[in-house]
Amino acid sequence: MVAEKVKIILEDGKAISQMFSDAQAMIAEFGAENVYNFSIGNPSAEPPEAVKQAMIDELNCQNPTYLHGYTGGLGYADVRQAVADHENETFGTKFSANNVVMTVGAAGGLNLVFQLLMNPGDEVITFTPYFSEYKCYATNVDAALVLSETDENFQPKLDVFESLLTEKTRIVLINSPNNPTGAVYSEDMLKKIAAIMEKKQKEFGTVMYMVSDEPYRYIAYDNVDVPYITKICKNAIVANSFSKSLSLPGERIGFLIIPSEIEGYQEIYEAANVINRTLGFVNAPALIQRGVARCLNAEIDVEGYKKNRDALYAGLIEAGYECVKPQGAFYMFVKTPIADDWEFYKKAQKYHLVLGPGVAFGGPGYVRISYCVDYDMIVKALPQFKQLMDDIRAEQKK
Ligand code: PLP
Repeated sequence: MVAEKVKIILEDGKAISQMFSDAQAMIAEFGAENVYNFSIGNPSAEPPEAVKQAMIDELNCQNPTYLHGYTGGLGYADVRQAVADHENETFGTKFSANNVVMTVGAAGGLNLVFQLLMNPGDEVITFTPYFSEYKCYATNVDAALVLSETDENFQPKLDVFESLLTEKTRIVLINSPNNPTGAVYSEDMLKKIAAIMEKKQKEFGTVMYMVSDEPYRYIAYDNVDVPYITKICKNAIVANSFSKSLSLPGERIGFLIIPSEIEGYQEIYEAANVINRTLGFVNAPALIQRGVARCLNAEIDVEGYKKNRDALYAGLIEAGYECVKPQGAFYMFVKTPIADDWEFYKKAQKYHLVLGPGVAFGGPGYVRISYCVDYDMIVKALPQFKQLMDDIRAEQKK
């Protein structure tokens, strides 16, 4: 019999598992080419050629005992230095290897941060709609996830946010570019969030950390600025990964930036070394640590995602859907023409469209469309979206 905690996680993850099994069942029935599966966030851009070459070079030039050995909980020192140098060159920061922890993706990094900072009963606050696994990460450490609403453009409502901060708030979790909306928070917005945190920490006599979950940092369009939070907030930690920026989600590689300026830096950084081990990760996978360090400047085809976004957005608007044009990531969060997004999700399947019900992301009345797919699939799916809308409107008129 599973533990109560597991039951909570399974209950919350129900919608996501349903989406996966529905997609699989439809593919088995109609064939993959006849199903428009927009339900998952697996990158469609190919990893850069440089990644393959880097792995081959590593395999050829390293002593295998070293290459495949334990790397220490924080990761290889030269890899951490390479990541710090890359951040410094790109963002004008001043990090060293001792501000970097190599992690098992951004997810591994976030779980590590939660373990490091949260006591049972503490609160982590994030903005809705949100990446639903945050709730599981909070449950893992017996903390509570508090949800703060956003406006019609998926930007934080600051008065709501301020009213939700309490003595128990330990982490403010930012995700920009956002999954599932594609929204990006401006520097001004982040400064306002940081100022509210500052005010409330003084009022309560507590310490809060801003944690930025940013696996989509490099997938941003139209020259939108994705601000670097350690320059905005003193107590800021960055969780990043190569899952989307180099299309390597299965390799499970990412990193944390823990700046020396944050409250309790020394203790936190030293603890990270131990806690990464005790989470079962032991260390981030060794070969891919070294591989990514060789191609930190490599890029995937972001223009391909932009082409998908533009075609999908134009087609949906023309068909009568309401949505905010995403500024980053590869998701669009679209208002459902009927209030119940589960009902819409089921109706869409009759048109061979597999979408992500908004309720699974704390955004009822919407669906998430992952447009990290082949462009041709979007072109073929748009008439289906239009037919679906036309049929719903006709039904509504009856
Ligand atoms: N955070 C967000 C918002 C995500 O969308 C994802 C994956 O889709 C993750 C974290 C986990 O990323 P990673 O593969 O780097 O662990």
